Formats: sequence, structure tokens, C-alpha cells
Amino acid sequence: MSFKLLGLSEPLLKAISKKGYETPSPIQAKAIPPILDGYDVLASAQTGTGKTAGFTLPLLHILSETPKEKYRPIRALVLTPTRELAAQVYANVKEYGEFLELRSAVIFGGVNRKPQVANIRQGVDVLVATPGRLLDLINQNLISIKRVEIFVLDEADRMLDMGFLRDIERVMKMMPEKRQNLMFSATFSGDIRKLANGILNNPVKVEA
Ligand code: AMP
Repeated sequence: MSFKLLGLSEPLLKAISKKGYETPSPIQAKAIPPILDGYDVLASAQTGTGKTAGFTLPLLHILSETPKEKYRPIRALVLTPTRELAAQVYANVKEYGEFLELRSAVIFGGVNRKPQVANIRQGVDVLVATPGRLLDLINQNLISIKRVEIFVLDEADRMLDMGFLRDIERVMKMMPEKRQNLMFSATFSGDIRKLANGILNNPVKVEA
């Protein structure tokens, strides 16, 4: 299996080879094709399996294939439980997107809002965020997620452990109903399955 055979575009293949990756990891080989085909995906994957590239690469591919509007609404939203993870996912988005004309930003709590808001106001295609700061900025009308086309919930089990269920539900209500949803989790309790049922439509299920 190769990244090219998975259907990823040249600018992404270039970024992948710059990273030194030779072959897709199992979760990437399984998750990337259905994501590119537009399906909702429920993925069971631990950190260290390459799951971040598993959703970031196809997400960037899809966004880069469709024309950008002059006013750039947030078209992809990635929610993570912690700021460390948000920063890590954002770093991946930057690296894999190096040869694409897409803009991205990251927001998380515990730091000054101003630079984060200034960045987003210029228009970003991909936003990586932790739930609290995201809701905070939405409630202040500083950002909008009304045009999101792809929603990613990363480390969903940790999200629930940290008490973010209500926040996730609030975020979901603010996005368009018609969108593609991707959910990644290391474990699958009854609560996670319930959450998945509420978020995903006929998901393709994949395991690392
Ligand atoms: P993750 O599970 O997303 O946290 O990724 C774990 C590590 O694997 C990161 O350091 C990635 O840069 C690396 N990685 C991701 N995909 C591949 C791949 N296909 N080949 C080699 N390393 C990879």
C-alpha cells in the first residue's frame, strides 16, 4: 500500500515524503479511503498509531479540492480535549498542508484570546480547538462555525473523561446538520457509543 494509491493529491504526497513516511500506517490505510469518499468514520485508534495524519491528510485533500470563497468561513473543525493535543494536531495540519493554499489556526484556553482571534478573523479553512475556548469565542460572536463541512472529534474518550459532553453537544448545535463527521477514540464504552450515535451518520468503522 502507498499513500498515492490511497488517492491523496500531489501536494500532500510531497509533504508526506518530506516527513519521511514511506507507507501508510494501518489506521491510515483503513481510514483515509472512506473519508475521501465522504463517509462518516468511527475510528478506534490509540495515540502513536498515526491517527492524526489519518484524519488530517484526507481532510486537507477534501478542502483543497473544492473552491475557496472570498470570505473564508471555517470549513473544518477539529476538537481536542487538551491544549497540548490541539497544538500537536495544529502542527500536523501545518506540516501536511505546507504545499496547499489553505489557512489554519488553533485556539485553546489558558492564554490570551487576542492573538488567537486576530488570526481567525483573517479567515481560516481549518480550526483546531479545545471546547471551552471555542464556545467562549463563539458566544462573544468572535467566530462562527455555521459553515463547517467536516467535523473531527479527536480522543473522544478523553473528552468524556474530562467532562466535555455538554460542550460537545453545544458545539454540534451550532454547525450545519449536513456535514461529514469523524470520530477517533482509543476506547469504546457505552457512553462513547452513545456519543457516536448522536454525532455520526451510518459511519464506516475502522480499527488500528
Ligand atoms: P499519532 O498517532 O498521530 O500521534 O502519530 C504518531 C507518530 O507517528 C507521529 O510522530 C507521526 O509523525 C508518526 N507517523 C504518522 N504516520 C506515519 C507513517 N505513515 N509513517 C511513519 N511515521 C508516521
